Order: sequence, then C-alpha cells, then structure tokens
Amino acid sequence: MKFSNKCPKCESNDIYTDEGITKQGVRTAIGISSWTRLYFDMYICSNCGFTEEYVREEDLQDSKKMEKLKENWKKKNTGL
Ligand SMILES: [Zn+2]
Repeated sequence: MKFSNKCPKCESNDIYTDEGITKQGVRTAIGISSWTRLYFDMYICSNCGFTEEYVREEDLQDSKKMEKLKENWKKKNTGL
C-alpha cells in the first residue's frame, strides 16, 4: 500500500497513513537495542482493516540505526 495506493486484500483505494505525521501510540516504534528505536509508518485500509508497516525512510537512511539492527538481529536465511 506504500507503493500502490491500493489495498492488496480488498482492492479498495481508502488507504490512510501516518507517514510524515508525529508518531503516537505504542505500535509506532520498536527497540532494537537499549538506546535505538526504529519508527514505523503505518498504512491502514479503512475498508477491510488490512495494515502494513514500514520502517520510516529517515530511519532506513540512518546508517547508525541500521548498524544496530545488523548487530542485534539476525539476517533471515534466504536459502531455507
Ligand atoms: Zn482492504
């Protein structure tokens, strides 16, 4: 929905997002280490309720945060 403006489940165009809006609530960030948090942009279909979450762009571009992620999380094994 981030890329298409259309819900992949019900094909509705009624997509809402908090992209670029100050984050509120508990589901908008996760801690990947003691000091590092990643924030999400959420995309919600108001027709069927389907929800997508993406790490916000400024966190993806933040190499320190991405380093922390790589230190603390394991890379998904794509071969299995
Ligand atoms: Zn939908």
